Amino acid sequence: MEELKLKKIIEQDHTYYMNTFGERLPVCFTHGEGVFLFGTDQKKYMDLLGGIAVNVLGHGNKRLVDALCLQASRLIHCSNLYYIEAQAELAEKLVKLSGGLSRAFFANSGAEVNEGAIKLARSYFEKKGQPRVKFITAVNSFHGRTLAAVTATGQSKYHNPFRPLPPGFSYIPYNDIKALEEAVDADTCAVMLELIQGESGIIPASAEYIEAAVCCCKANGALLIIDEVQTGMGRTGSFFAYQQHGIVPDMATMAKGLGGGVPIGALLAKEDIAAGFGPGDHGTTFGGNPLACAAALAVLQEYEDRQLVTAAKETGSYFMSCLGKISKETGRIKEVRGKGLMIGIELVRPEAVRVKERCLAKGYLVNSVGTGVIRLLPPLILTQSEIDLFCVDFAAIITEDTPDKQEN
Ligand SMILES: *Cc1c(COP(=O)(O)O)cnc(C)c1O
Repeated sequence: MEELKLKKIIEQDHTYYMNTFGERLPVCFTHGEGVFLFGTDQKKYMDLLGGIAVNVLGHGNKRLVDALCLQASRLIHCSNLYYIEAQAELAEKLVKLSGGLSRAFFANSGAEVNEGAIKLARSYFEKKGQPRVKFITAVNSFHGRTLAAVTATGQSKYHNPFRPLPPGFSYIPYNDIKALEEAVDADTCAVMLELIQGESGIIPASAEYIEAAVCCCKANGALLIIDEVQTGMGRTGSFFAYQQHGIVPDMATMAKGLGGGVPIGALLAKEDIAAGFGPGDHGTTFGGNPLACAAALAVLQEYEDRQLVTAAKETGSYFMSCLGKISKETGRIKEVRGKGLMIGIELVRPEAVRVKERCLAKGYLVNSVGTGVIRLLPPLILTQSEIDLFCVDFAAIITEDTPDKQEN
């Protein structure tokens, strides 16, 4: 019966939904509780991906659900033509959490806030009467799917079908200080970077690289935009990842975890940069509406009460040390990378897809990047005993010998 239900959903999807996600994992969830999700197959799954860094409070968090129900019953949406109490409050909260940025703008996704950052950078220089159009981003970066954000994304596989792309973007190898120093000049509008590249396999920037980026931008009057869409919301052990490097960028973008699953993104900027947008220069119908902002405020309140940023740091170190042990014991892990609860496990063999599928069969949701990396972005409420459960099974999964199917 339940199997038939899933079969029907899959058929319907294959017939009517655009084929942008290819063959999805054959599971459909009906509800969740904490770090667990429940499928139409009546099985329980431990969610170690959190909807790709989105479900920071896990599933079914009472404060978030109550805030959404209450706000939905009062006012879901009005328009940015009017003042919005929750939006003003959220802007203040994020500015204070940023430790140096002064103003916020809200949109609905990571791509959209990065798009906003690109527009704001150009507009800032245009208004100064010194137009600059050049953007420098990193090879293998990921900044989203809108035309400018996808152009900022340094991966040609995402560009090819969509040419011509907006001009002005060039790409430098990540963590290569010399390439950065050579690329940035007095015509550079902005450098846009992730502090840990997420979509390309959890690749952290070195401290020296980040320092060099700050210096280089400063010396050339270029703006530094840090894309914290994945690293933000405390995931790496500080509210923004840049705070562990003692820097304040000119702009930071965030989205994924901000609404705990409700779509909302934020662009934050320093005061003088933010002045690059005047009335009418940018806008949004849905962005920062009462429902989305109420969600984000509830998430931040829960962070405060449960000290979730500290939790991410501590739980993350525990997780890393467990994975380190598995690595020693099994010899099947090449490297464990990342910070806090943003973790990449590079396997010795190119079997990440198969490992992901075996994890699913055993009741764990993880993500694979390419053929070699398992990516984990769990809810920040994950506990050590849940990590222990996973680690026992994960060690067994990666040591299982499966001569049947070979991946390339
Ligand atoms: C996911 C992601 C984006 C894009 O966010 P969407 O909400 O999917 O548009 C941008 N930058 C980074 C670093 C991301 O991880």
